[in-house]
Amino acid sequence: MTPGVKTAAVIGAGFGGIALAIRLQAAGVQTTLFEARDKPGGRAYVYEDQGFTFDAGPTVITDPSALEELFALGGRRMADYVELLPVTPFYRLCWEDGSWFDYANDQDAMDRQIHARNPADVAGYRRFLAYARAVFEEGYVKLGTVPFLSFRSMVQAGPALARLQAWRSVYSMVSKFIADEQLRQVFSFHSLLVGGNPFATSSIYALIHALERQWGVWFPRGGTGALVAGLLRYFEDLGGTLRLNAPVSRIELSGGRASAVVVHGESLPFGQVASNADVVHTYEQLLGHVPRGAAEAKRLKSKRFSMSLFVVHFGLSKPQPQLRHHTVCFGPRYRELIDDIFNGDALTDDFSLYLHAPCVTDPSLAPPGCSSHYVLAPVPHLGQAAIDWRVEGPLLRDRILAYLEQRYIPDLRRDLVTCRIFTPGDFKTELSAHLGSAFSLEPLLTQSAWFRSHNRDDAIPNLYIVGAGTHPGAGVPGVVGSAKATAGLMLEDA
Ligand SMILES: Cc1cc2nc3c(=O)[nH]c(=O)nc-3n(C[C@H](O)[C@H](O)[C@H](O)COP(=O)(O)OP(=O)(O)OC[C@H]3O[C@@H](n4cnc5c(N)ncnc54)[C@H](O)[C@@H]3O)c2cc1C
Repeated sequence: MTPGVKTAAVIGAGFGGIALAIRLQAAGVQTTLFEARDKPGGRAYVYEDQGFTFDAGPTVITDPSALEELFALGGRRMADYVELLPVTPFYRLCWEDGSWFDYANDQDAMDRQIHARNPADVAGYRRFLAYARAVFEEGYVKLGTVPFLSFRSMVQAGPALARLQAWRSVYSMVSKFIADEQLRQVFSFHSLLVGGNPFATSSIYALIHALERQWGVWFPRGGTGALVAGLLRYFEDLGGTLRLNAPVSRIELSGGRASAVVVHGESLPFGQVASNADVVHTYEQLLGHVPRGAAEAKRLKSKRFSMSLFVVHFGLSKPQPQLRHHTVCFGPRYRELIDDIFNGDALTDDFSLYLHAPCVTDPSLAPPGCSSHYVLAPVPHLGQAAIDWRVEGPLLRDRILAYLEQRYIPDLRRDLVTCRIFTPGDFKTELSAHLGSAFSLEPLLTQSAWFRSHNRDDAIPNLYIVGAGTHPGAGVPGVVGSAKATAGLMLEDA
């Protein structure tokens, strides 16, 4: 380490870790980003097979301004590294009765569809949108990138949370404004995108709806992996160092401060250390050798973790022009299914699905004339349902593909070229995710802001957390926001 040079290690190259590394490097801190896997991205990993490209995780890219802000820090433009393409409609939501709703940023088209279901809900929707915009201002614009380090900061946010009735659930708030059951699903399912149960998570998560209406839904040309690659090329252009296949096995302390990270048995000194890895993994595995690590891991393990996901990536020998880019396929049950996913102890016979058809926006993700896809089903995490995924995974895959073939993709199994699955067990082993949770701590009001893992550790003054487990939480805008909160503290402290 050169004397006088500020250095930082960021453990994990998920969106949160990458955004933090960029912020630090752009501010002159010599930053090394350590990633355990062979490729960066974390949940946003990329699989390639027979000419098909499959994004493993995030596909709905919102709030491009937060990404643009990262490039502006180094005097660059996002367009020089990656192109974002608009997605319209944002989503198509389909039910088993054959009806659908195209959710888009076109107010007239939205009004027409709402009117066709229930005329009174047109005015109700406008009141809901006004509410969603108010929580968006308070929860995202004002507080989304502010670290909640003291209980006082939580108390200060109290009056606004009370005014916005944040104790109510998303579904209950939507139902206050909208009567039609399917429309209630349209405007409440969003919290599932960040691991929240719409019937339990705070109505502040209605802000996702306003966020999408504000800035639209986007998809990077070349897939989400191209966005990850563009961010990392920029990080390296700034002078930062990315190390892949570099699992950190331990964070070393000296005099109560983080002093080094251990990679492949080698101790590498740094002035500051931030972890983008799963929060339980960070405290239990990387810091388990000190009392603080063991105690914090124990505390975190007593909390509720979000559900997991079962994902099937598949390539077809035909394009699928009947599909939209993003489709939500509601199964026969909504409330009951969600309750089974969050609180049940087994797999259910039915499911609701999210179907990704990226070639609708960018055909380059599959060989000419073909299409790449993934479909995911929310499922209970490993701590809740003792499912042997090596046995159940292939069976669930077959059930889901048969369902899609019957309702959405004729001849799917005949045209299948390639197929792979990612189970809750893989979240645990590949991403070190506690209980195989897909989104870390469940976003309940009692596990948000100050109640979440803090952006700076309470006891180790130069140890920081970034990503889904800290404030504000999961989702690409969330973890990119967490990087802003964490970087602010690190630069102040440095
Ligand atoms: C299937 C799926 C679909 C999703 N869809 C969307 C979407 O459309 N839009 C959206 O906004 N959000 C979506 N999300 C949520 C979003 O992807 C995540 O919340 C977000 O990407 C998490 O980022 P993160 O910064 O917390 O890091 P993660 O992505 O969790 O990455 C953490 C990284 O740390 C690495 N790591 C762990 N331990 C170590 C170690 N000891 N040493 C070194 N490295 C380590 C891991 O390998 C990993 O690369 C989706 C999530 C999933 C799973």
